[in-house]
Amino acid sequence: CGIIGIVGTTTVTERLIDGLKRLEYRGYDSSGIAVLDGGTLKRERAEGKIKALETKLGGAALDGTIGIAHTRWATHGVPNENNAHPHFAGRVGVVHNGIIENFLDLRKDMSHRKFTTETDTEVVAHLVDDALSSGQAPIDAFRTSLKKLKGAYAFGLIIDGFDDHIFAARAGSPLALGIGDDEIYLGSDAMALAMLSQKLVYLEEGDWAVLSPTGYKIFDRDDNPVERDITLIQGGP
Ligand code: GLU
Repeated sequence: CGIIGIVGTTTVTERLIDGLKRLEYRGYDSSGIAVLDGGTLKRERAEGKIKALETKLGGAALDGTIGIAHTRWATHGVPNENNAHPHFAGRVGVVHNGIIENFLDLRKDMSHRKFTTETDTEVVAHLVDDALSSGQAPIDAFRTSLKKLKGAYAFGLIIDGFDDHIFAARAGSPLALGIGDDEIYLGSDAMALAMLSQKLVYLEEGDWAVLSPTGYKIFDRDDNPVERDITLIQGGP
């Protein structure tokens, strides 16, 4: 239902939780966060309120300078902790808004993979990890995986071993970037981003993007590099 991501230079967990709270108004049944902590993919998830996630995080001390977080409104798979995002497969962690309509077909095509949730989303993590395992570069693994998906999505995706990049894509679900001085943010709406940046770039239908602390690149549905307008918003903590 809601997405927030930060690729930055200072720790992200507290700011991601703050972003999730700003997305609460959209409604949700569970929430979760994943970071690359010292180069290792780590996550915490909880059913129910963000408060429950915070309680779990209290004991986990999970942090890093890159992370993604999610509030879920379940469409496929019951609302519980195991079905909460981020979903992991191998080196890949992903958060998703929307519905992957052909997820059952894709799962069948990947019978060599072990699926651990009931969600439509998990297949995306497996697609990208499979492509990485077959030797594709991260950007190609993401790009080629997107082409296999039918349905509506906004994604934030991180890859273990590719520590200062977030991959993002939008088709049918809104997604925007926030531009900082030495950080780039990802959010499903301006509400989540306003406390992080007043400079937003809305992805257009079919766009995908690669975010790093020093900048971002946007590509259209045909993988051509594109420029999108910067929108200045009112905001602040
Ligand atoms: N379809 C996904 C799920 O059920 C994402 C739902 C959402 O947008 O929160 O997990």
